[in-house]
Amino acid sequence: MNIKFFDIVVNFIFIQQCRLCNRILKYNENFVCRNCLEKELNPIEDINVYDRLFFLDEVYILFYYTRIVKELIHAIKFDRDFSAIKLMKNLIDKHISLERLPEFDLIIPVPLFPSRKRSRGYNQSQIIGKEISKLTNKKIYENILIRLKNTKPQSLLILEDRQHNIANAFFVVNSKREYITDKNILLVDDVFTTGFTTNECAKVLKNAGAKNVFLFALATAVL
Ligand SMILES: [Zn+2]
Repeated sequence: MNIKFFDIVVNFIFIQQCRLCNRILKYNENFVCRNCLEKELNPIEDINVYDRLFFLDEVYILFYYTRIVKELIHAIKFDRDFSAIKLMKNLIDKHISLERLPEFDLIIPVPLFPSRKRSRGYNQSQIIGKEISKLTNKKIYENILIRLKNTKPQSLLILEDRQHNIANAFFVVNSKREYITDKNILLVDDVFTTGFTTNECAKVLKNAGAKNVFLFALATAVL
């Protein structure tokens, strides 16, 4: 079936409203209307802003964590909202600057604890990673870095507890070490806040033999 026609039919049957202003969405709009998108989305121009985090060699972030990005990530994480996923993929395609990405060999998404992934059905960082994989033709590996500790959501903790919460949460699967030895890795996460989580991932990857670990995050809450 023609995709455009399919979208029109789906939107006709399931009338969707803009998550921010409640306007009825047009067939080619996902999750929010074009007005809100233009008004609220705030891309980061200078994206390599965090080159001083200890284990992360470079950090590349697409958007500021404005209301629209917050709603979008929340809908993907907790509501399994497919129009949100579609919009996120479109935004990555449109705003990513491939020539500004550092040279990397493979992509690894920040893993969720297995039971959390099961209850959610997917890992939002994996969706972002797959989109980058599609755009760059670099492979994404989801079973090299795993999360063994079911940490509390970082957002619930005060700053001092966050670092402790995430310590020793991640491991590289021993039999997969060869995949990352001397490789440059693009680690992918949804929101960058304190950097403790991704820094811990980078530490573990480097201890297991990775050469450089760069971070790609969809948004940052700290700039
Ligand atoms: Zn709107």
